[in-house]
Amino acid sequence: MKKVCFFDTKSYDKLYFDPFSKEFNVEMVYCESKLNEKSVVMARGCDAVVAFVNDRVNAEVVKELWEMGISVVALRCAGYNNVDLKAAYGKVHIVRVPAYSPYAVAEFTMGMFLSLNRKLYRAYNRIREYNFSLTGLLGTDFYGKTMGVVGTGKIGQVFIDICLGFGMKVLAYDPFPNERDGVRYVSFEELCRHSDMISLHCPLTKESYHMVDAASIERMKDGVILVNTSRGALIDSTALIEGLKEGKIGAAGLDVYEEEGDFFYEDYSGAVLPDDELARLISMPNVLLTSHQAFLTREALRNIAETTVENLRQYFDGEALPNEICYRCEKDGTCDKEHKKRCF
Ligand code: NAD
Repeated sequence: MKKVCFFDTKSYDKLYFDPFSKEFNVEMVYCESKLNEKSVVMARGCDAVVAFVNDRVNAEVVKELWEMGISVVALRCAGYNNVDLKAAYGKVHIVRVPAYSPYAVAEFTMGMFLSLNRKLYRAYNRIREYNFSLTGLLGTDFYGKTMGVVGTGKIGQVFIDICLGFGMKVLAYDPFPNERDGVRYVSFEELCRHSDMISLHCPLTKESYHMVDAASIERMKDGVILVNTSRGALIDSTALIEGLKEGKIGAAGLDVYEEEGDFFYEDYSGAVLPDDELARLISMPNVLLTSHQAFLTREALRNIAETTVENLRQYFDGEALPNEICYRCEKDGTCDKEHKKRCF
């Protein structure tokens, strides 16, 4: 029986993974800790590791896994910015779940825009205190407004459908445009200048790191609503806070935060939050911050579990790994996975 060590697991993960244990004759070992240089030792004696968005698969972790004889990490997510792909190459196969529900994230994103615009979270709190005043809750119609969509892959496309359904105009930026009716591709600078709302749906890479910085915020329309459900480090948090303080940014929805790794998915109630920028953002009435939750639907969890288990089965059975990723597939397309069926 193969033994698989899961990191950063919560009750809802177990609920969706446990049913596969018997079917695939796999023993699941669930750890609540995030994977890092210290916790990697928990995987000793296992045949594979399953990791999530805030687990660190850096060079040190790869080395430890390799020395323990573990040569596969199955990411139960799409993004892999938390993996040192170069260090892993030739030692540890990295498989992922490229798509599990673009609807989950796109719908959540629109939910954030709507809540921010109509201040639903503030109204909820007011009413609980029997404050029925509407002062300060003024919003704007979405119909006819311009949404700027950065990254038009699987999630971006579903989000565009939703925006078009609202009667919005859509500007898009993507180095690999996916032309379609109702969407005009422009440069990122132009998108910033002309969008009433901006939604980020691109991966975190060297190129996209801090793409929303002081200069791009300066270009944005006054009062723009910015939502990030992609990866925290797309936004320079210091610049965002300045933009919010100056009123340049009208509201921000953040399902991700660049230093989220230490906090998200954990209960810090009763503690003094050691991250001043996170605390500052949470304190602002026009910021809606959630704990990397956009993916969390039943359908997404089921698909994540199914694909992760299938990725591991393919690995253990020596089959091709269609969901493997390596630095060569990502960077220069020189990976010959198509012929070899695996990246190495
Ligand atoms: P995808 O690979 O289908 O699409 C990403 C798109 O971004 C591609 O079209 C690509 O060309 C484009 N892109 C790459 N670099 C870019 C850049 N610098 N500027 C603009 N566009 C760029 O990915 P997806 O499934 O649509 O997911 C998008 C992102 O959403 C993921 O990378 C992940 O970080 C994030 N995500 C978040 C959650 C959550 O729970 N909050 C869940 C799933 C995915």
